[in-house]
Order: sequence, then structure tokens, then C-alpha cells
Amino acid sequence: MLDITQYDQINPPYRLLMGPGPINADPRVTRAMAAPLIGQFDPVMTDYMNQTMALYREIFKTQNQQTFVIDGTARAGIEAVLMSTIRPGDKVLVPNFGRFGLLLCEIARRCRAEVHTIEVPWGQVFDPNVIEDAIKKIKPRLLLCVQGDTSTTMLQPLDKIGEICNKYGVLSYIDATASIVGNDLQVDKWQLDGVSVSLQKCLSGPPGVAPLTLNDKMVDVIQKRKCVESGIRNENDVDGTDEIIYSNYFDLDMIIRYWGAERINHHTEATSMLFAARECARIVLQEGLDDVIKRHETNGAAMLAGLQAMGLEIFGDVKHKMNNVVGVMRPEHINDMEVRSLMLNDFAIEIGASFGPLKGNVWRIGTMGYNARKDCVMQTLSAFEAVLNKVGFKTVQGAGLQAAWDIYSKAQK
Ligand SMILES: *Cc1c(COP(=O)(O)O)cnc(C)c1O
Repeated sequence: MLDITQYDQINPPYRLLMGPGPINADPRVTRAMAAPLIGQFDPVMTDYMNQTMALYREIFKTQNQQTFVIDGTARAGIEAVLMSTIRPGDKVLVPNFGRFGLLLCEIARRCRAEVHTIEVPWGQVFDPNVIEDAIKKIKPRLLLCVQGDTSTTMLQPLDKIGEICNKYGVLSYIDATASIVGNDLQVDKWQLDGVSVSLQKCLSGPPGVAPLTLNDKMVDVIQKRKCVESGIRNENDVDGTDEIIYSNYFDLDMIIRYWGAERINHHTEATSMLFAARECARIVLQEGLDDVIKRHETNGAAMLAGLQAMGLEIFGDVKHKMNNVVGVMRPEHINDMEVRSLMLNDFAIEIGASFGPLKGNVWRIGTMGYNARKDCVMQTLSAFEAVLNKVGFKTVQGAGLQAAWDIYSKAQK
């Protein structure tokens, strides 16, 4: 018999989450999630859905009508776009520069795409010309690329990529989960066809919903694969001319019909997550999107300067790193796990480990969303200094904090 007295009410300890995500949600977001549930087709709910679409058009800097959320974590958004656009046998090209490039390959493979990759070592990004040359050679139907890969902290420049794709008739899809609102992203200006993200990085929300945007070209490709499920089909529902989408949950044609005037009963929108997504966007737009990016830039620069002033080496091409996360090389003879445990147990601060080729050798420290704040940066730097000195990596006391303070006073001028 299960002894229910052994199962306490959920009551996690307070942690300051300074890793590569998830991060602490803004309390406004968790308050919005505690609002009462309403019915899926209650006009108040459908109004909130429409408002969420309008708010995320601003976040993505796009006019795309089809801007909405997929219920599920970031990879649900990725999988929805890939499942709905890639037909078995389609050629895709993935410029791979980290773990999330590998995830794009993985999902594309499961869509039965013919997957082609180009590679740079972890810690670097691609010259757009290299991507163009690969497109000319491989002639893919789609280009799949990450904007900011948290596994390496790198930010791939994308301002030329849409234009290059258009020149060769290639559809572009971008995973901007880690970079959105922490770094510049202009969906329309950069001519990107589809972009998806999630809340748990710079948008200050919990994991569980994936905002995305699709332009008309992408929507056209998806709608050619129309196949409304039998339980909700009516006589004017004629199937599309192209192959059906081999997923029901991620059938973006049906999901578009749920979010649009037809309001077909595809799934039940995750009410509390929709409230969260709406509040996340509202918080950013109240502060001002460009000011939010600037805040990530300043706090990221302060964290970077602080770490460097402690005598630590930074991982990767620093010129191309995201504003919101930094990779720190583990000094020789210092134990990775011991440092992270002391940070967590003695200071209640979580920093990130690494995987793949960086496993055990790089710590990833984030300054994202609600935690892209001076107090979070200063707390993390002082704790990190104390921990490193305790385990035998000697720093000049206070040098990291002073370097961060210098960045903040410069930013005020
Ligand atoms: C963090 C991150 C994700 C997260 O995916 P989940 O499914 O939410 O775990 C996806 N893509 C990128 C680029 C990320 O940095």
C-alpha cells in the first residue's frame, strides 16, 4: 500500500537559477498561471488567444498572421514546424554548431528527411558565405538552423540567411529559443520563414509552451498537406494536394484552424500556459523589447567582465557569444561537481554544467530574463569567487565584483 503521508505537498527550496535555463519565472507570470480556468471556446479565452498572437507578433518583429503557441516545451515547437513542413525524402540542410543543431538533425531524421549537415567546432559560428555555398551544392528544400545554441553559448548571425535562402528557393526555419529577447531577432526584416521559441530562457516564464511564427510561404506549404481528422471533419474539408502530415498533435494545418476563425476543436489549449505566455510577452513589451535586449547585453557584459577579472578563461569565440549566457573554462585541478555543489548547497545558486565535447570542462552561467539583473549578477559573482577560492583557485579578492561594477557605471553614462 502506498503511504500517502510520505508524499508532502510540493514545496521546493528557493534557488537562484543562473544556468542556461530554465531560470526563475517572473512572479507576475506564476501569478497569471494561478488565474481560474475557463472553457476552451469561452469568448474570454479566445480573446486571450488572439491577444497572445498580437503580443508575439511584436516579440518576433513580424506581421505574420500565423503567430501562436504550441503546447509543449521548445522541442514541441521545433517538431511541429519540422513535421508539418518536411515530407519523407525531402532534403534538409543543418548548419550544426552545437547540441541543438544535433537536435534539429535528430528530429528531421525522424521526419524521414534526407539530412545534410555542415559543421564548425563547438564554440564557433558559420560565415554566411559558407552556408550559401552549402545551399548551392546540396540544394535542400529547407534550411534548419539554431540562432543561439546554449550548449556552446554561440549566436549565429542570421541577418543574411533569409535573403540567401530566398535566392535559392529554400525555406528557412530557426530555433531561437535561447536567444529571443536577449539578442536581436527580426523575423520579417531578415526574411525568415518560420521561427519557434519557448518561455524558459529570456522570456522569464516556465517551460511548457512554444511560441512560433510562420510566414505565408510556410503556411502555404503546410496547408497543401491539409487533412482534418475524422471526428471534427465537415463536408467542405477537402484534403490538400500534398502528402498528409504524419503527426496529429503537431499538425500545424489543424492547429492554425484552431487558432483562426474556424476554431476547429483540435486540442484543448493549455489554459494556464497560455496565461503564462501572454504575461511573459506583456512584461517584455511594457519594458520595451529593445530595452530588454539592452538589459541582457549590460548584465551579460558585467558577468563576463567579472569572470575574466577573476582570472578565468572564457569558452568559445567571445565576439559571437549570446548576451545571456557565458561558458567558463574549468581551471585545471578544480573539481566540476564540487564547485557546482557548493554553489547550490551553500549559496542556493544553480549554474550549468555542459555536455558533449565540453562535458565536465565548461560551466555555463546565464543572465536571462527575470534574472538578467544587477543583484543576481553580483550575488553570483561573489558566491563564485568564494567557492573557487575555497577549492583552491586563488583570485584577487573583489576584482570580479569591481569589474562588473565598472560595466554598470559605464552603461549608465
Ligand atoms: C534550451 C533550448 C531548448 C530547450 O528545449 P526544451 O524542449 O524546452 O527542453 C531548445 N533549443 C535551444 C536552442 C535551447 O537553447
